[in-house]
Amino acid sequence: MSRGSSHCTLSIVHYPFPTSRPFRANFALEVYPSERNTADMTTSEHPYDVIIVGGGPCGLAAGIEAAKSGLTHLILEKGSITESIRRYPKLMRFFSTAENIEIGGIPFPISGVKANRNEALQYYRKVAAYFQLNTKMFTEVQKVQKQGDLFIVTTTNGDTFQAYKVILATGYFDKPRWLGIPGEDQAHVSHYYDEPFQYSFTKVVIVGAANSAVEAALELYRHNVDVTVVHRGEDFKPTVKYWLIPDVKNRVKEGKIKTAFDSCVTRIGPDYVRMHNLKTGETQTIPADFVLMLTGYTPDAELLTRCGIDLDPDTQIPVYDKQTFETNVPGLYVCGTVMAGIYTEKVFIENGREHAIAIIDHIVGREEIHKVNELIQRI
Ligand SMILES: Cc1cc2nc3c(=O)[nH]c(=O)nc-3n(C[C@H](O)[C@H](O)[C@H](O)COP(=O)(O)OP(=O)(O)OC[C@H]3O[C@@H](n4cnc5c(N)ncnc54)[C@H](O)[C@@H]3O)c2cc1C
Repeated sequence: MSRGSSHCTLSIVHYPFPTSRPFRANFALEVYPSERNTADMTTSEHPYDVIIVGGGPCGLAAGIEAAKSGLTHLILEKGSITESIRRYPKLMRFFSTAENIEIGGIPFPISGVKANRNEALQYYRKVAAYFQLNTKMFTEVQKVQKQGDLFIVTTTNGDTFQAYKVILATGYFDKPRWLGIPGEDQAHVSHYYDEPFQYSFTKVVIVGAANSAVEAALELYRHNVDVTVVHRGEDFKPTVKYWLIPDVKNRVKEGKIKTAFDSCVTRIGPDYVRMHNLKTGETQTIPADFVLMLTGYTPDAELLTRCGIDLDPDTQIPVYDKQTFETNVPGLYVCGTVMAGIYTEKVFIENGREHAIAIIDHIVGREEIHKVNELIQRI
């Protein structure tokens, strides 16, 4: 089987419950083979009821809700299952407690309170297997087009799939915010932080002052790395997890982590970073073996536009109904962090997992549509 066609071929799941509600486990599981969900193919012969683009926590939640409602579904994922989490820093721990990132009503048991990356990867994989989700991995969707009552979903290698409804759950982690400065594309510059050991006994400049930057700075400092944090603001961002603040500030006070606030990076050389102080106007050059540009990520606006979805020009937030998550293209929905535009810190698994419930309520025509917690509604 080729890497691109690894098709986990599974059957539809019928539940004795006509509706699903948030985080209530429906354990009385019966499985029936289904003709529509069993083809190992690159082009669907029959339309699926729902195609979900993206196999992150929110896309999986959408697949589960579809399956619980007896809808045929296919999840197309460009990488592996929960690809974003797989690429998160290896030593990371979620800030949410485990029960707040559960999906499908399946408990997430861990020995502590908050899960780490490995525990989350195991959990989501097991939940996807438990619900026998119909997935096709390493399949990147290029566009979604409406033709009559159907959607044609086209992948980057030209395969097409048909569905009556499509849910985009593509997140934001693939699109780092580039600063557009000279030298940003060099091999020793990365927009992702993975693990500390590769950097021990080197000089690392971290650009950014939000959670990812602070967590990386602390972890690197504790692995014999000479760390400097550069940020255009005057301090670490106020959104940094409250329990990290005393730790990082005390390390700065001790001189163990260096900072250059009020500073914009203007150039990255092979072994240096040049920056401009916004207050004094001075230019400073500091040595750097590696540069980590931890300046955030944004949803793929081009993909959304290719699918016909209108975006707010200032916020990049797609046009969608706040209750049903249906976009300006009828039958095409946004689910999870893909809808966040530039406000990626406002949608996460905790609230994004609930979009799936509201979307499937709308698709199957339930009178009462699940109300998603108000964090997302503030956008
Ligand atoms: C270090 C870190 C810690 C975090 N901790 C927490 C936490 O404690 N609690 C919390 O609630 N949130 C947390 N978050 C945020 C959370 O991980 C995201 O909100 C979550 O992953 C969003 O889920 P999603 O399904 O919307 O998107 P993602 O998990 O990003 O999934 C999107 C999927 O779509 C796939 N995809 C993208 N484009 C395509 C395409 N064109 N075709 C096919 N597939 C595609 C991607 O490969 C990916 O697998 C954290 C984030 C980071 C970076």
